[in-house]
Amino acid sequence: IFSAQSYDRHFLEEALSRHYGDGSVELMYHTESLTRQSVALAQDCCAVCVFVNDVLDAPVLEALASLGVRAVLMRCAGFNNLDVAVAAHLGMFVARVPSYSPEAVAEHTLALILTLNRHTHRAYARVREGNFALDGLLGSTLHGKTVGLIGIGKIGLAVARIFNGFGCRVLGYDPITSTEFAQLGTMTALPDLLAESDIVSLHCPLLESTHYIIDNAALERMKPGAMLVNTSRGALLNTGAVIGALKSRKLGALAIDVYEQESELFFQDHSADIITDDVFQRLITFPNVLVTGHQGFFTVEALREIAETTFSNLAC
Ligand code: NAD
Repeated sequence: IFSAQSYDRHFLEEALSRHYGDGSVELMYHTESLTRQSVALAQDCCAVCVFVNDVLDAPVLEALASLGVRAVLMRCAGFNNLDVAVAAHLGMFVARVPSYSPEAVAEHTLALILTLNRHTHRAYARVREGNFALDGLLGSTLHGKTVGLIGIGKIGLAVARIFNGFGCRVLGYDPITSTEFAQLGTMTALPDLLAESDIVSLHCPLLESTHYIIDNAALERMKPGAMLVNTSRGALLNTGAVIGALKSRKLGALAIDVYEQESELFFQDHSADIITDDVFQRLITFPNVLVTGHQGFFTVEALREIAETTFSNLAC
């Protein structure tokens, strides 16, 4: 188990005893991420279990195969960190957890939007210092606003359902038509979605076709002052272009749970270090930017489901 955190162990042990209570499967935990440097830790294992920050490129997959590893069990939905063609060529069994709790990510998306929209994060910091003044905290009402969802799969649909409850107009862009979405909103071409939405939220996977789907041209098409939200994968946004749009105030606000360079930063406590990532430092200086460290999935229910599916996958 690579990138194993203390919370992972609890849920994995629970699922292990349900599936392999006879002790036929032994787990070895490593807090390290799987990389070219750490791959030797998989010695004597028949499978590795990995997360979003582990690197499964050709050299790592080839090294795993030469150690006798036959399966990669991903504890996540996204698989942009794995070279699928190389894994297939090596005959390696790869499984992921395609659905554990779309609602967990959808609810976190809404938490970010509501917080940023009403400046709750800044209000909380102020009130703790005894400052109850409201200047600079003027928000807007979500009811009646237009929300554009890029990607209307499991998470996008869950977000659409919540925004329906808020009385928002929901637009969706996805290359695949969803009959379920027809009850919740209107399928729209991407340029129109960008031009009409007060909030644009990304719920598509990171693929070659979606890399930097939000670039200078897309930002240019967006409504002046709109909010951009990314709880999917960092490289869907060209972060440099987004910083430019925040500076010029074309973009009104940004909420991100994921970040282009997150494998070097997120999931670890850096409070004692100086973070040398200039782009990240620039991002967090904007008061209208809210960043969380890839915690959309992080609920008890989701972790339980991830562990459960991981061991069902191992049984295959
Ligand atoms: P899903 O496969 O159910 O849905 C993805 C949708 O994106 C599909 O409908 C697909 O057709 C669509 N899509 C593909 N290419 C597109 C494009 N070019 N433009 C617009 N849409 C496109 O996946 P899901 O479960 O809804 O998850 C979506 C993403 O959320 C995952 O790929 C992952 O990156 C991210 N995620 C983040 C967290 C987190 O903790 N923040 C947790 C789970 C998943």
